[in-house]
Amino acid sequence: MEVLAKYEPVIGLEVHVQLATATKIFCGCATSFGAPPNTNVCPVCLGLPGALPVLSRHSVELAIQAALALNCRVNGRSIFARKNYFYPDLPKGYQISQYDQPLAEHGWVDVEVNGHKKRIGVTRVHMEDDAGKSIHDGFKDSDKYTYVDLNRCGTPLIEVVSEPDMRSGDEAHAYLTEVKQVLQYVGVSTCDMEKGHLRCDANVSVRLKGAEKFGTKAEVKNLNSFRFLKMAVEQEIERQVAILESGGRVMQETRLFNVDTGETVGMRSKEHAHDYRYFPEPDLVPLRVSDAWLKEMRDAAPELPAARRVRFMEVYGLREYDAQVLTATRALGDYFEEAAKAAGDARAAANWVMGDLTAELKEAGKDISESPVSAANLGGLVALIGQGKLSGKLAKEIFPKMFASGESADAIVAREGLSQISDEGALGKIIDEVIAANPKQVEQFRGGKTTVIAFFVGQVMKASRGQADPAAVNRLLREKL
Ligand code: ADP
Ligand code: ZN
Ligand code: MG
Repeated sequence: MEVLAKYEPVIGLEVHVQLATATKIFCGCATSFGAPPNTNVCPVCLGLPGALPVLSRHSVELAIQAALALNCRVNGRSIFARKNYFYPDLPKGYQISQYDQPLAEHGWVDVEVNGHKKRIGVTRVHMEDDAGKSIHDGFKDSDKYTYVDLNRCGTPLIEVVSEPDMRSGDEAHAYLTEVKQVLQYVGVSTCDMEKGHLRCDANVSVRLKGAEKFGTKAEVKNLNSFRFLKMAVEQEIERQVAILESGGRVMQETRLFNVDTGETVGMRSKEHAHDYRYFPEPDLVPLRVSDAWLKEMRDAAPELPAARRVRFMEVYGLREYDAQVLTATRALGDYFEEAAKAAGDARAAANWVMGDLTAELKEAGKDISESPVSAANLGGLVALIGQGKLSGKLAKEIFPKMFASGESADAIVAREGLSQISDEGALGKIIDEVIAANPKQVEQFRGGKTTVIAFFVGQVMKASRGQADPAAVNRLLREKL
C-alpha cells in the first residue's frame, strides 16, 4: 500500500510473563500445568470470603530479577491494588495488581532491526496474579457450555509495559524476542508461549509522518506467538491508515486478532472497559525492598546475553554472528564455553557446536541440554584435531558415533584404531610403496609436472584408510620424490 509511506506507526507492548515459581503468589497452591481442572485451588485463590493473601517472597525475588535484567529502577516501596472487574474465571471479582506505585520503572532493552540498533524504553514492571481459564472448546449445538478451570487463579505474573517506542512490526517482534531471551536467561520464566507463560498485547496507532502528537491507539489483545504479533501489528497499521485515508477516525478500543483470517476485530470500546476502580489492596501491606535485599539480587544476577555476546567476541575471538548464535540460550552458551576450554581452540569449538552438533541435535529433535555428546567430549575431539592426532575428515566420521553412543573421541579412536598417522616411519613406509607402484607418475613429477603430487597424496590417503596426516604426507612426498 503506497499510502502507508505517508504514515508513521507507533507501537507499545504490554507483556505478561508467568514467573517460574512452584507455588502461587498469595497461597501455597501448586502452579503446575496440566493438573485436572479445579484441583490446585484453596480458599485464598478462590477468593472465598475471609481468606487472606500472603505474598510469596520467591515471587518477589523473581520479579526483582526480571526488573533488573530489563534495566529498571526498583522502587523501595510499592503497593498492591485491586483492579475490579467481573468475569466467570475471576472468582474474587478483582485482580490483585499494582497501579500507581509499581515494583519497578524506567528500564530499557536494546534491539537490532535490519542492522539498525535501537533502544526501547520499559515504562514499568509490576506484579499481579493471574485469572483462571474459560474453555470454550467443544462449543457445539449439543454442548453449549463454557467451562471454567480455576487452577491458574493466583499464578504469579509480571507485566512488562513498554514505552510507545516501536515503529514497525519488525521492531515489535525484535523487542519481544529480546525481552523473552533476557527473562529466560535470568531464569525468572520459561516464557513458553504455547503454555501461556508469555502473552502479549500490542497497542498500535498511526500518525502522519512529521506529526508531533500520537494518533488514537487500538489495543490488540492476547497475541500468543511471535508470528501473530507481527501479523497483527502490520494488519492493524493498514486498517488504521485505511480509516484515516477515507476521512474516518480511529476508535480507542480493544481488538482481537483472528488467527484464521489474519485480521483484527473489535471487542469492546475502551471507555467502558476502563473503569476498574483501582484502590490499594487492604489485605496486603506495602511491599518494601531494602537496599540490602536489592544488592543481594544484583549480586546473584547472571550475565545477560548482550554482555555475553561482547565477551565471546573479545575473549574467544568469535565473529558477531557466531557470538549471537552461541548466546541464544544460557545452556548453549554454557556448553560452548566448556567445550572451548577442553578444546584449547575456541573458534574450532564454536564451529563444531554450530555445525555438526547443532545438525545432529536437530535431526534427533533434542535440546542442547539433552546432548549425548558432553561439552567436555566435544572439546576433547577438537583437541585431538589440534594435536594432529586426528584429521578433520576422521573427526567428522567419529562425531556421529560419539553422538550415538555418548562415548569420548579417545575411546572410539582407541577401540577402532583410527588415530591419524603422522609418525614419519609408518608414513614413510606407505609412501615408499606408493612411489614404487607408480613409476609413470614419478617420471612425470620429475619431468616438471608437479601437479601429480595430488595423485600421490590421494594414493597415500587411500592406502592409509584416510588416517594419514595430509600435511605430513605432502612434506614427505616432496622429499622422497
Ligand atoms: P492505557 O491507559 O490505555 O492502558 P497506557 O498509557 O497505560 O494506556 O499505555 C499502555 C501501552 O500503550 C503502553 O505500552 C504504551 O507504550 C502504549 N501506548 C500509549 N499510547 C500509545 C499510542 N498513541 N500509540 C501506540 N501505543 C501507545
Ligand atoms: Zn490457593
Ligand atoms: Mg495500561
